[in-house]
Amino acid sequence: MSILAAPETELLSPGHASCPGCAVALAVRFVLKALGPQTVVVIPPSCIAVMAGPLPLASMRVPVFQTAFETTAAAASGLARAFRARGEEVIVACLAGDGGTHDIGLQALSGAAERNEDFIYFCFDNEGYQNTGNQKSSATPWGARTTSTPRGKSTRKKDIVQIMAAHRIPYAATACPAYPDDLVAKVERAKGLRGTRFIELLCPCVPGWGIGDDASLRVVRLAVESKLFPLYEVEDGLRYRITREPAGLPVREYLSAQSRYRHLTEEGVSQIQEAVDLEWARLLDAGTHAGGVGAPLRLS
Ligand code: SF4
Repeated sequence: MSILAAPETELLSPGHASCPGCAVALAVRFVLKALGPQTVVVIPPSCIAVMAGPLPLASMRVPVFQTAFETTAAAASGLARAFRARGEEVIVACLAGDGGTHDIGLQALSGAAERNEDFIYFCFDNEGYQNTGNQKSSATPWGARTTSTPRGKSTRKKDIVQIMAAHRIPYAATACPAYPDDLVAKVERAKGLRGTRFIELLCPCVPGWGIGDDASLRVVRLAVESKLFPLYEVEDGLRYRITREPAGLPVREYLSAQSRYRHLTEEGVSQIQEAVDLEWARLLDAGTHAGGVGAPLRLS
């Protein structure tokens, strides 16, 4: 299904509390549209929780369970099992940020993935703790300035998709709001499977990344087209598929569009380009060789 074919009904109401130009808000809107009204969402502290809002100002037209940072996947596991015990066909979806996924919620998520709990987990990755003022998370890339790394982060970004794929869950993928047809197709694909499904969405943050409020989609497109954030999917941790062939733009174009990288030297930019080229080669290699490693284990 393309975004144009998606239902016209909006499940994220206008007037919520996100910043103007927020890519997370657009991505949440597309995700909810693709999931449909038979969905219950679980949200930990994040910009998404702020968007969802308190009653009576709630912006989402689906039931929302706001949970603690650590417990998103645990809460979703319980809800999914309860709906199943009652014979109700309800999609349980987690809508979390990178702080709640790569860092604080990772233990519960890993446990749930190992048990292959039946939910779809969406990580809206804005590469930092943006709703508390842009502190670094383990999703913040090397070199990026945040309020807690004022000279640039000195360690690399955690590769959460590879971590989730290593659990051999049925489906793991990357997506972003600048390619909505790709995003919606991946939500549809995830909906057609059972077990733990995981989608990582790169979503630029206007104040945190130092971009204009009209720049989010242009910036995330540059991330995809420079191979810094490839769009791909992995089934059962084995079968890789790149869903968009990137143009291969220099990563400099992506970096120079954001003030959080403005302090980088030529050497720093070259180091990032080298790392991007290496990771792209690694992804191609995984796509070529991983498919024949072994069949997924299924008891029934
Ligand atoms: S702080 Fe960033 S991620 Fe949060 S609502 Fe504003 S633009 Fe969106």
